[in-house]
Amino acid sequence: MRQKYFVLSEELDSISQNGLLRNLLPLPSTTGKFIYEGREIINLSTNDYLNLSTSPEVIKAGIESLEKYGAGVTASRLVTGHLPIHEKLENSLAQLTDFESSLVFGSGFLSNLGVINAIANRNDEIYADKLNHASLIDGVLLSGAKSFRYKHKDLDHLEMLLKNSKTTGKKIIISDSVFSMDGDIAPVKELFELSEKYEAFLIVDEAHAIGVFGNGGGITKSLGQNYKPDIVLGTLSKAIGCYGGFASVNKILQKYFINKSRTFIYSTGLPPSCIGSAISAIDLIKNDISLGNKLLKNAKIFHSLLESSGFSMNKFESQIIPVLIGDNKKTLEFSEKLFNNYDIRAVAIRPPTVPLGTARLRLSVSLAHTEEDLKLSAEKIRLCAKEIGIL
Ligand code: PMP
Repeated sequence: MRQKYFVLSEELDSISQNGLLRNLLPLPSTTGKFIYEGREIINLSTNDYLNLSTSPEVIKAGIESLEKYGAGVTASRLVTGHLPIHEKLENSLAQLTDFESSLVFGSGFLSNLGVINAIANRNDEIYADKLNHASLIDGVLLSGAKSFRYKHKDLDHLEMLLKNSKTTGKKIIISDSVFSMDGDIAPVKELFELSEKYEAFLIVDEAHAIGVFGNGGGITKSLGQNYKPDIVLGTLSKAIGCYGGFASVNKILQKYFINKSRTFIYSTGLPPSCIGSAISAIDLIKNDISLGNKLLKNAKIFHSLLESSGFSMNKFESQIIPVLIGDNKKTLEFSEKLFNNYDIRAVAIRPPTVPLGTARLRLSVSLAHTEEDLKLSAEKIRLCAKEIGIL
Protein backbone atom coordinates (compact mmCIF):
# COMPACT_ATOMS: atom_id res chain seq x y z
CA MET A 1 0.00 0.00 0.00
CA ARG A 2 1.27 3.48 -0.76
CA GLN A 3 2.59 5.38 2.23
CA LYS A 4 -0.01 8.16 2.01
CA TYR A 5 -2.83 5.63 2.58
CA PHE A 6 -1.37 4.13 5.79
CA VAL A 7 -2.82 6.79 8.04
CA LEU A 8 -6.29 6.31 6.55
CA SER A 9 -6.15 2.58 6.86
CA GLU A 10 -4.95 2.81 10.47
CA GLU A 11 -7.93 5.00 11.22
CA LEU A 12 -10.26 2.46 9.60
CA ASP A 13 -8.67 -0.34 11.69
CA SER A 14 -9.34 1.61 14.85
CA ILE A 15 -12.96 2.28 13.81
CA SER A 16 -13.37 -1.44 13.17
CA GLN A 17 -11.82 -2.47 16.51
CA ASN A 18 -14.38 -0.29 18.29
CA GLY A 19 -17.24 -2.05 16.50
CA LEU A 20 -17.96 1.10 14.53
CA LEU A 21 -17.15 0.13 10.96
CA ARG A 22 -19.94 0.83 8.46
CA ASN A 23 -20.41 -1.43 5.45
CA LEU A 24 -22.67 -1.26 2.43
CA LEU A 25 -24.99 -4.20 1.82
CA PRO A 26 -26.82 -4.19 -1.50
CA LEU A 27 -30.37 -5.49 -1.11
CA PRO A 28 -32.93 -6.21 -3.83
CA SER A 29 -35.37 -3.68 -2.40
CA THR A 30 -35.50 -0.83 0.08
CA THR A 31 -39.13 -1.25 1.09
CA GLY A 32 -40.52 -2.69 4.33
CA LYS A 33 -40.69 -6.26 3.05
CA PHE A 34 -38.78 -8.09 0.34
CA ILE A 35 -37.33 -11.40 -0.79
CA TYR A 36 -33.58 -11.86 -0.35
CA GLU A 37 -31.84 -15.12 -1.29
CA GLY A 38 -35.21 -16.89 -1.18
CA ARG A 39 -36.08 -15.57 2.30
CA GLU A 40 -38.83 -13.06 3.08
CA ILE A 41 -37.15 -10.25 4.97
CA ILE A 42 -39.08 -7.81 7.17
CA ASN A 43 -37.18 -4.56 6.86
CA LEU A 44 -37.51 -2.68 10.13
CA SER A 45 -34.99 -0.03 9.11
CA THR A 46 -36.84 1.54 6.22
CA ASN A 47 -37.98 5.15 6.06
CA ASP A 48 -40.51 4.23 3.39
CA TYR A 49 -43.09 4.72 6.11
CA LEU A 50 -46.18 4.84 3.90
CA ASN A 51 -44.87 2.23 1.45
CA LEU A 52 -45.15 4.78 -1.36
CA SER A 53 -41.74 4.26 -3.02
CA THR A 54 -43.13 1.32 -4.99
CA SER A 55 -46.72 2.52 -5.38
CA PRO A 56 -47.77 1.90 -9.01
CA GLU A 57 -49.22 5.44 -9.28
CA VAL A 58 -46.02 7.01 -7.95
CA ILE A 59 -43.86 4.99 -10.34
CA LYS A 60 -46.13 5.77 -13.31
CA ALA A 61 -46.06 9.50 -12.58
CA GLY A 62 -42.26 9.39 -12.37
CA ILE A 63 -42.02 7.62 -15.73
CA GLU A 64 -44.37 10.13 -17.37
CA SER A 65 -42.26 13.08 -16.19
CA LEU A 66 -39.07 11.27 -17.20
CA GLU A 67 -40.41 10.72 -20.70
CA LYS A 68 -41.75 14.23 -21.06
CA TYR A 69 -38.78 16.20 -19.69
CA GLY A 70 -35.77 13.86 -19.76
CA ALA A 71 -33.52 12.31 -17.15
CA GLY A 72 -32.19 15.49 -15.63
CA VAL A 73 -32.46 19.29 -15.81
CA THR A 74 -28.67 19.74 -16.11
CA ALA A 75 -28.50 23.20 -14.53
CA SER A 76 -29.44 25.25 -11.51
CA ARG A 77 -33.07 26.33 -11.54
CA LEU A 78 -31.81 29.92 -11.74
CA VAL A 79 -30.10 29.12 -15.04
CA THR A 80 -31.99 26.70 -17.31
CA GLY A 81 -32.97 23.95 -14.86
CA HIS A 82 -36.41 25.25 -13.94
CA LEU A 83 -39.56 23.45 -15.13
CA PRO A 84 -43.23 24.18 -14.48
CA ILE A 85 -43.39 20.93 -12.50
CA HIS A 86 -40.88 22.31 -9.97
CA GLU A 87 -43.45 24.99 -9.18
CA LYS A 88 -46.30 22.51 -9.22
CA LEU A 89 -44.46 20.40 -6.62
CA GLU A 90 -43.75 23.49 -4.51
CA ASN A 91 -47.40 24.52 -4.57
CA SER A 92 -48.40 21.03 -3.57
CA LEU A 93 -45.91 20.99 -0.67
CA ALA A 94 -47.02 24.45 0.50
CA GLN A 95 -50.59 23.19 0.58
CA LEU A 96 -49.61 19.96 2.36
CA THR A 97 -47.73 21.81 5.10
CA ASP A 98 -50.17 24.76 5.21
CA PHE A 99 -47.64 27.43 4.30
CA GLU A 100 -47.69 30.33 1.84
CA SER A 101 -44.93 28.73 -0.23
CA SER A 102 -42.29 26.03 -0.44
CA LEU A 103 -38.88 25.78 -2.06
CA VAL A 104 -37.49 22.47 -3.27
CA PHE A 105 -33.81 21.50 -2.94
CA GLY A 106 -31.72 18.54 -4.14
CA SER A 107 -32.14 16.61 -0.88
CA GLY A 108 -33.18 17.12 2.73
CA PHE A 109 -29.53 17.48 3.70
CA LEU A 110 -29.04 20.19 1.06
CA SER A 111 -32.20 22.04 2.19
CA ASN A 112 -30.95 22.10 5.74
CA LEU A 113 -27.44 23.27 4.84
CA GLY A 114 -28.76 25.86 2.38
CA VAL A 115 -31.46 27.33 4.59
CA ILE A 116 -29.39 27.64 7.78
CA ASN A 117 -26.32 28.94 5.98
CA ALA A 118 -28.44 31.56 4.20
CA ILE A 119 -30.35 32.87 7.19
CA ALA A 120 -27.57 32.81 9.78
CA ASN A 121 -24.20 34.51 9.72
CA ARG A 122 -21.34 35.33 12.06
CA ASN A 123 -23.28 38.03 13.91
CA ASP A 124 -26.17 35.73 14.76
CA GLU A 125 -26.86 33.16 17.45
CA ILE A 126 -28.29 29.70 16.95
CA TYR A 127 -29.95 27.62 19.68
CA ALA A 128 -30.08 23.97 18.67
CA ASP A 129 -31.40 20.85 20.38
CA LYS A 130 -28.54 18.56 21.34
CA LEU A 131 -30.00 15.62 19.37
CA ASN A 132 -30.67 17.48 16.11
CA HIS A 133 -29.89 15.68 12.86
CA ALA A 134 -26.36 15.90 11.41
CA SER A 135 -27.55 18.07 8.50
CA LEU A 136 -28.79 20.72 10.93
CA ILE A 137 -25.55 20.55 12.91
CA ASP A 138 -23.50 20.96 9.73
CA GLY A 139 -25.71 23.85 8.58
CA VAL A 140 -24.98 25.63 11.84
CA LEU A 141 -21.22 25.04 11.50
CA LEU A 142 -21.23 26.27 7.90
CA SER A 143 -23.07 29.47 8.81
CA GLY A 144 -20.34 30.60 11.22
CA ALA A 145 -23.02 31.75 13.71
CA LYS A 146 -22.35 31.46 17.43
CA SER A 147 -24.12 28.30 18.49
CA PHE A 148 -25.55 26.96 21.72
CA ARG A 149 -26.77 23.38 22.04
CA TYR A 150 -29.51 23.10 24.64
CA LYS A 151 -30.19 19.85 26.49
CA HIS A 152 -32.54 17.60 24.56
CA LYS A 153 -36.06 19.12 24.63
CA ASP A 154 -35.12 21.11 27.76
CA LEU A 155 -37.15 24.33 27.50
CA ASP A 156 -35.74 25.76 30.75
CA HIS A 157 -32.21 25.36 29.47
CA LEU A 158 -33.17 26.94 26.14
CA GLU A 159 -34.86 29.87 27.86
CA MET A 160 -31.90 30.41 30.15
CA LEU A 161 -29.63 30.65 27.09
CA LEU A 162 -32.03 32.98 25.28
CA LYS A 163 -32.37 35.19 28.35
CA ASN A 164 -28.61 35.59 28.60
CA SER A 165 -28.22 36.52 24.96
CA LYS A 166 -26.60 39.89 24.26
CA THR A 167 -26.59 39.62 20.51
CA THR A 168 -27.72 42.45 18.31
CA GLY A 169 -27.97 39.96 15.45
CA LYS A 170 -30.68 37.34 14.77
CA LYS A 171 -31.58 34.61 17.23
CA ILE A 172 -32.55 31.29 15.64
CA ILE A 173 -33.96 28.21 17.37
CA ILE A 174 -33.59 24.90 15.49
CA SER A 175 -35.10 21.53 16.32
CA ASP A 176 -36.18 18.29 14.70
CA SER A 177 -39.90 17.67 15.27
CA VAL A 178 -39.70 13.86 15.35
CA PHE A 179 -36.13 13.00 16.36
CA SER A 180 -34.62 10.64 13.81
CA MET A 181 -32.88 8.17 16.11
CA ASP A 182 -35.16 8.28 19.18
CA GLY A 183 -38.56 8.82 17.58
CA ASP A 184 -39.59 11.23 20.31
CA ILE A 185 -41.27 14.54 19.57
CA ALA A 186 -40.04 18.04 20.31
CA PRO A 187 -42.27 20.45 22.27
CA VAL A 188 -42.90 22.47 19.10
CA LYS A 189 -45.68 24.61 20.55
CA GLU A 190 -43.51 25.67 23.48
CA LEU A 191 -40.55 26.27 21.16
CA PHE A 192 -42.82 28.57 19.16
CA GLU A 193 -43.83 30.45 22.31
CA LEU A 194 -40.18 30.95 23.28
CA SER A 195 -39.36 32.10 19.76
CA GLU A 196 -42.11 34.73 20.04
CA LYS A 197 -41.04 35.84 23.51
CA TYR A 198 -37.39 36.31 22.51
CA GLU A 199 -38.02 37.43 18.91
CA ALA A 200 -36.16 34.47 17.54
CA PHE A 201 -36.67 32.67 14.25
CA LEU A 202 -37.90 29.10 14.66
CA ILE A 203 -36.79 26.34 12.26
CA VAL A 204 -38.35 22.88 12.61
CA ASP A 205 -37.11 19.84 10.68
CA GLU A 206 -40.10 17.63 9.93
CA ALA A 207 -38.20 14.98 7.91
CA HIS A 208 -39.78 12.10 9.85
CA ALA A 209 -43.15 13.74 10.50
CA ILE A 210 -44.19 14.68 6.95
CA GLY A 211 -46.71 12.15 5.67
CA VAL A 212 -47.26 10.75 9.16
CA PHE A 213 -48.48 13.50 11.53
CA GLY A 214 -50.93 16.36 10.95
CA ASN A 215 -52.80 14.65 8.08
CA GLY A 216 -49.45 14.30 6.34
CA GLY A 217 -48.42 17.94 6.81
CA GLY A 218 -46.28 17.35 9.90
CA ILE A 219 -46.42 18.13 13.62
CA THR A 220 -46.44 21.88 12.98
CA LYS A 221 -49.49 21.57 10.74
CA SER A 222 -51.34 19.73 13.48
CA LEU A 223 -50.73 22.73 15.79
CA GLY A 224 -52.54 25.11 13.43
CA GLN A 225 -51.82 28.64 12.20
CA ASN A 226 -51.27 30.09 15.68
CA TYR A 227 -48.05 28.15 16.19
CA LYS A 228 -46.40 28.34 12.76
CA PRO A 229 -42.60 28.25 12.84
CA ASP A 230 -40.83 30.54 10.38
CA ILE A 231 -39.40 27.59 8.50
CA VAL A 232 -40.43 23.95 8.22
CA LEU A 233 -37.81 21.72 6.64
CA GLY A 234 -38.72 18.43 5.06
CA THR A 235 -37.61 15.67 2.77
CA LEU A 236 -39.19 13.91 -0.17
CA SER A 237 -37.02 10.89 0.63
CA LYS A 238 -38.84 9.24 3.51
CA ALA A 239 -42.66 8.99 3.78
CA ILE A 240 -43.00 10.60 0.34
CA GLY A 241 -40.88 7.73 -0.97
CA CYS A 242 -38.88 9.67 -3.61
CA TYR A 243 -35.85 11.96 -3.35
CA GLY A 244 -35.28 15.66 -2.66
CA GLY A 245 -35.83 18.16 0.13
CA PHE A 246 -37.83 21.31 0.77
CA ALA A 247 -38.43 24.28 3.00
CA SER A 248 -41.94 25.59 3.65
CA VAL A 249 -41.89 29.31 4.34
CA ASN A 250 -43.61 32.64 3.68
CA LYS A 251 -43.08 34.51 0.39
CA ILE A 252 -40.34 36.76 1.79
CA LEU A 253 -38.26 33.81 2.94
CA GLN A 254 -38.84 31.95 -0.31
CA LYS A 255 -37.49 34.94 -2.24
CA TYR A 256 -34.65 35.25 0.26
CA PHE A 257 -33.58 31.60 -0.13
CA ILE A 258 -33.82 31.76 -3.93
CA ASN A 259 -31.33 34.61 -3.71
CA LYS A 260 -29.15 33.49 -0.82
CA SER A 261 -29.13 29.69 -0.44
CA ARG A 262 -25.93 28.41 -1.95
CA THR A 263 -27.20 24.82 -2.18
CA PHE A 264 -30.16 26.14 -4.17
CA ILE A 265 -28.25 28.58 -6.37
CA TYR A 266 -25.21 26.47 -7.20
CA SER A 267 -26.74 23.01 -7.53
CA THR A 268 -28.80 21.39 -10.28
CA GLY A 269 -32.59 21.34 -9.94
CA LEU A 270 -34.41 18.18 -8.93
CA PRO A 271 -34.78 15.67 -11.80
CA PRO A 272 -38.20 15.34 -13.51
CA SER A 273 -38.81 11.72 -12.44
CA CYS A 274 -38.40 12.66 -8.76
CA ILE A 275 -40.74 15.61 -9.20
CA GLY A 276 -43.44 13.59 -10.98
CA SER A 277 -43.29 10.83 -8.39
CA ALA A 278 -43.28 13.23 -5.45
CA ILE A 279 -46.34 15.11 -6.74
CA SER A 280 -48.17 11.81 -7.12
CA ALA A 281 -47.14 10.58 -3.65
CA ILE A 282 -48.27 13.84 -2.05
CA ASP A 283 -51.62 13.52 -3.85
CA LEU A 284 -52.01 10.04 -2.39
CA ILE A 285 -51.25 11.40 1.09
CA LYS A 286 -53.71 14.28 0.66
CA ASN A 287 -56.42 11.98 -0.66
CA ASP A 288 -56.15 9.51 2.21
CA ILE A 289 -55.47 11.33 5.45
CA SER A 290 -55.85 8.06 7.37
CA LEU A 291 -52.45 6.75 6.19
CA GLY A 292 -50.40 8.37 8.97
CA ASN A 293 -52.80 7.29 11.69
CA LYS A 294 -52.87 3.74 10.34
CA LEU A 295 -49.07 3.67 10.54
CA LEU A 296 -49.02 5.06 14.08
CA LYS A 297 -51.64 2.55 15.21
CA ASN A 298 -49.49 -0.36 13.95
CA ALA A 299 -46.36 1.20 15.43
CA LYS A 300 -48.05 1.44 18.83
CA ILE A 301 -48.95 -2.26 18.72
CA PHE A 302 -45.36 -3.13 17.81
CA HIS A 303 -44.02 -0.92 20.60
CA SER A 304 -46.19 -2.60 23.24
CA LEU A 305 -45.22 -6.07 21.99
CA LEU A 306 -41.55 -5.20 22.41
CA GLU A 307 -42.19 -3.65 25.80
CA SER A 308 -44.05 -6.72 27.04
CA SER A 309 -41.12 -8.88 25.84
CA GLY A 310 -39.02 -7.15 28.49
CA PHE A 311 -37.06 -4.56 26.49
CA SER A 312 -36.67 -1.28 28.27
CA MET A 313 -38.47 1.11 25.97
CA ASN A 314 -39.01 4.86 25.84
CA LYS A 315 -42.65 5.87 25.80
CA PHE A 316 -44.39 5.43 22.46
CA GLU A 317 -44.41 8.59 20.35
CA SER A 318 -43.94 7.78 16.66
CA GLN A 319 -43.23 5.16 14.00
CA ILE A 320 -39.54 5.24 15.01
CA ILE A 321 -38.96 2.81 17.87
CA PRO A 322 -35.44 2.50 19.27
CA VAL A 323 -34.34 -0.61 21.16
CA LEU A 324 -31.43 0.59 23.22
CA ILE A 325 -28.51 -1.83 23.68
CA GLY A 326 -25.59 0.42 24.61
CA ASP A 327 -22.56 -1.62 23.58
CA ASN A 328 -21.51 -1.19 19.92
CA LYS A 329 -20.35 -4.76 19.27
CA LYS A 330 -23.36 -6.32 20.97
CA THR A 331 -25.68 -4.14 18.90
CA LEU A 332 -23.89 -5.22 15.75
CA GLU A 333 -24.11 -8.88 16.76
CA PHE A 334 -27.85 -8.47 17.44
CA SER A 335 -28.41 -6.85 14.07
CA GLU A 336 -26.39 -9.46 12.16
CA LYS A 337 -28.07 -12.39 13.88
CA LEU A 338 -31.53 -10.94 13.25
CA PHE A 339 -30.74 -10.69 9.56
CA ASN A 340 -28.95 -14.01 9.09
CA ASN A 341 -31.08 -16.24 11.34
CA TYR A 342 -34.40 -14.46 11.80
CA ASP A 343 -35.01 -12.73 8.43
CA ILE A 344 -35.23 -9.29 9.99
CA ARG A 345 -33.35 -6.25 8.75
CA ALA A 346 -32.69 -4.00 11.73
CA VAL A 347 -29.59 -1.90 11.22
CA ALA A 348 -27.29 -1.24 14.18
CA ILE A 349 -27.08 2.49 14.83
CA ARG A 350 -23.87 3.41 16.60
CA PRO A 351 -21.86 6.53 17.49
CA PRO A 352 -21.27 9.09 16.11
CA THR A 353 -24.85 8.89 14.76
CA VAL A 354 -26.03 8.51 18.37
CA PRO A 355 -24.26 9.54 21.61
CA LEU A 356 -21.50 7.28 23.00
CA GLY A 357 -22.84 4.26 24.92
CA THR A 358 -26.30 4.44 23.33
CA ALA A 359 -25.92 2.08 20.36
CA ARG A 360 -29.30 0.75 19.35
CA LEU A 361 -31.51 -0.93 16.85
CA ARG A 362 -33.56 1.91 15.43
CA LEU A 363 -36.71 0.11 14.36
CA SER A 364 -39.29 1.75 12.14
CA VAL A 365 -42.70 0.57 11.11
CA SER A 366 -44.01 0.87 7.55
CA LEU A 367 -47.40 0.35 5.95
CA ALA A 368 -45.75 -2.56 4.11
CA HIS A 369 -45.89 -4.42 7.43
CA THR A 370 -49.10 -6.19 8.38
CA GLU A 371 -50.08 -6.56 12.01
CA GLU A 372 -49.12 -10.24 11.62
CA ASP A 373 -45.62 -9.27 10.34
CA LEU A 374 -45.15 -7.05 13.36
CA LYS A 375 -46.27 -9.71 15.84
CA LEU A 376 -43.95 -12.26 14.28
CA SER A 377 -41.07 -9.77 14.18
CA ALA A 378 -41.51 -8.83 17.86
CA GLU A 379 -41.36 -12.53 18.76
CA LYS A 380 -38.25 -13.10 16.62
CA ILE A 381 -36.54 -10.07 18.15
CA ARG A 382 -37.32 -11.45 21.63
CA LEU A 383 -35.92 -14.90 20.77
CA CYS A 384 -32.79 -13.46 19.19
CA ALA A 385 -32.20 -11.16 22.18
CA LYS A 386 -32.45 -14.19 24.51
CA GLU A 387 -30.05 -16.14 22.31
CA ILE A 388 -27.35 -13.47 22.56
CA GLY A 389 -27.99 -12.78 26.24
CA ILE A 390 -29.45 -9.28 26.21
CA LEU A 391 -32.85 -10.30 27.58
N1 PMP B 1 -33.32 15.70 8.59
C1 PMP B 1 -33.50 14.58 9.28
C2 PMP B 1 -34.10 14.67 10.66
C3 PMP B 1 -33.14 13.33 8.74
O1 PMP B 1 -33.31 12.21 9.45
C4 PMP B 1 -32.60 13.29 7.43
C5 PMP B 1 -32.22 11.99 6.75
N2 PMP B 1 -31.71 11.02 7.53
C6 PMP B 1 -32.41 14.49 6.75
C7 PMP B 1 -32.79 15.67 7.35
C8 PMP B 1 -31.81 14.50 5.38
O2 PMP B 1 -32.75 14.19 4.41
P1 PMP B 1 -32.32 13.54 3.03
O3 PMP B 1 -32.13 12.09 3.29
O4 PMP B 1 -33.45 13.84 2.11
O5 PMP B 1 -31.05 14.18 2.62
